[in-house]
Amino acid sequence: VLEARGLSKAFGGLLAVAEVDLAVAEGEALGIAGPNGSGKSTLFNLLTKVPFAADSGTVLLDGRPLDSVPAHAIARLGVARTFQRESVFPSLSAIDNVLLAAEGSRKARGFAARLRLAERALDGAGFPATLHNALAGQLPVFLRKLVMIASALALEPRVLLLDEPASSLTPQEIERIRALIARLLDSGMTILLIEHVLPLLTAVSHRLIVMDQGAVIASGTPAEVIANPAVVEAYLGKKT
Ligand code: ATP
Ligand code: MG
Repeated sequence: VLEARGLSKAFGGLLAVAEVDLAVAEGEALGIAGPNGSGKSTLFNLLTKVPFAADSGTVLLDGRPLDSVPAHAIARLGVARTFQRESVFPSLSAIDNVLLAAEGSRKARGFAARLRLAERALDGAGFPATLHNALAGQLPVFLRKLVMIASALALEPRVLLLDEPASSLTPQEIERIRALIARLLDSGMTILLIEHVLPLLTAVSHRLIVMDQGAVIASGTPAEVIANPAVVEAYLGKKT
């Protein structure tokens, strides 16, 4: 459903993403691992053009090149993402955060329809119904993450890109994120997951790719990738 060919992005002299190819099939979960600074989040930026597109290379959705399609239209075509850094509006309630995201929806026109969509997205993310009106900035980190995921779900995406949904969570909370991702996959969604929490990554991913210095250095099933010596070297090399 989503494909990238030769995606590259440089920041000054630094090649953050270097000639990345990938293809994700409908309903598949693709995990993305790699050391800090290897280009994972930048790859998500290039796939969604938020906040910037690639210097070169092409993203295709259902085989259709998105070269001349702007970011908001890509979202409307069904590709939604979350951000690694916290991106809730702290002085807005949880429901207002998701309502704002629902403004980008292609289907829900009018306030009542958007409100239903936002409520459904919060429910779908497993956010407690009693806290819809709580200020996002006063919620614990786990619930703020659910608001971020619900904001992406409000676009009713076919393809969901999750950037480190489990970072700074407890093992119990990570298990709830795992169950949520499993539910979304059951509903037929296609998921790209960047995650440093390897048990979560290997539990939900059908396939894994590993990035190092902007390039994809390994891909395969989780078991294949973990056994790949290049992957071990990439991680150990960074520790020096
Ligand atoms: P992490 O696991 O720490 O989140 P990452 O794999 O997501 O790392 P990126 O955030 O994609 O890595 O960054 C890749 C490289 O590009 C890094 O060297 C980073 O400093 C650089 N970089 C990312 N965004 C920008 C930007 N907007 N301007 C300049 N350099 C950037
Ligand atoms: Mg990142």
